[in-house]
Amino acid sequence: MDFFQYKKGKLFAEGVDVEKIAAEVGTPAYIYSKATILDHFNKIKKAFSALDTTICYSIKACGNINILKMLAAEGSGFDIVSGGELFRAQQTNVDMKKIVFAGTGKTDAEIIAALKAGIGYFNIESEAELENLIALAKKTKKKTKAALRVNPDVDPKTHKFITTGKKETKFGVDIERAEKVFAQYGKNEYVNLCAIHVHLGSGGKTIDPYCEAIKKILPLINSLRGKGFTIEMLDLGGGYGAAYQSDTVPSAADYAKGMVPLLKGKNLKLVLEPGKSIIANAAILLTKVLYRKQGGNKKFIIVDAGMNDLIRPCLYDAFHFIWPAKVAKEFAAVKRTEKLNIKGLEFVDIVGPICEGSDFFAKDRAIPPVNRGDLIAIFTAGAYGHTMSSNYNARPMLPEILVDGKNFKVIRKRQTYKDLIALEK
Ligand SMILES: *Cc1c(COP(=O)(O)O)cnc(C)c1O
Repeated sequence: MDFFQYKKGKLFAEGVDVEKIAAEVGTPAYIYSKATILDHFNKIKKAFSALDTTICYSIKACGNINILKMLAAEGSGFDIVSGGELFRAQQTNVDMKKIVFAGTGKTDAEIIAALKAGIGYFNIESEAELENLIALAKKTKKKTKAALRVNPDVDPKTHKFITTGKKETKFGVDIERAEKVFAQYGKNEYVNLCAIHVHLGSGGKTIDPYCEAIKKILPLINSLRGKGFTIEMLDLGGGYGAAYQSDTVPSAADYAKGMVPLLKGKNLKLVLEPGKSIIANAAILLTKVLYRKQGGNKKFIIVDAGMNDLIRPCLYDAFHFIWPAKVAKEFAAVKRTEKLNIKGLEFVDIVGPICEGSDFFAKDRAIPPVNRGDLIAIFTAGAYGHTMSSNYNARPMLPEILVDGKNFKVIRKRQTYKDLIALEK
């Protein structure tokens, strides 16, 4: 569910005509819907309310501090993966105990900053990292809690770059090794290793891998408890499905239906780290058609956004539904899917202005005919969209706009040319 819908053939973000936003802030631009973000967050909260659950929104999906403040106000915690994300979290009123810190390569400076901030849990990826955390906690006299990231060897059946819970990845330790780690470090006075973390990867489309992972982890937790270790929390990571196409992914309620019964009565606090499933379809990237061009048998639509603004199609082969902001009646209520069978569509490649063959948003895509000057929406662009953007080709980064009902505001300004060189001497 999201709040980007056509009214009389014109695309609205909640109560605002996106054409009006383009007229005011220009294109390209990221446009977020507040109601969509809160709707996702509150549905997850409700679905998992039978357990003692903390939702730690994953900042790396989209870290604008206005959005973080909004989520913190709803009771969200944060999943961070760097010192920079800790700094972003600190701009909000979040309860620091609701912060979990993952990542395979935490530096000393990042660890010390997080110790001083008093975060909830360090998610530990290796023995070497845990040893370093213990040393730094001792040195700074800051006690902390940690969760061991365990690799349940479950395949979420997603793209290989975003699969992280299989054995052959750089993340976490194998389930067999987990007991040894607890035996060696589980009774430390500075770092209380008292939780298990699992993150299967991003972009899963079914519930099964989560249930499978829980079923593999519970015996480990039982065994550890049997040996006298306290395991108070299970962090099941992120990667829950996001609606890149209509009706293709489980809802929060669907996930809960499979997962909650497995965890009920186990005396475990639950942490969830959703990124995509909260923010992905809460934004569009609005871009303008610059030129039409014929190359051989192919038709190209060249738009003013490029791979530096949204890299997912080129990096992950990701599908984004793309549709003009103004369409004829018959095109207004289509399903957002890869295979559209409607008369009057044109097959085109939608590409950006950057000097790279990989600068595309869609290939052989059916869309209603568009012309120079028309606005086009790239849907489900909220997650790993703006956060993965760059200044490649000396292109200023895009503004971010937050729509709330009939109002909208700029929550990040468009970079200027001066910004591009501001740090250069
Ligand atoms: C990236 C990441 C997430 C969020 O993943 P989504 O697919 O956006 O839900 C959660 N936890 C960890 C440890 C991550 O690295």
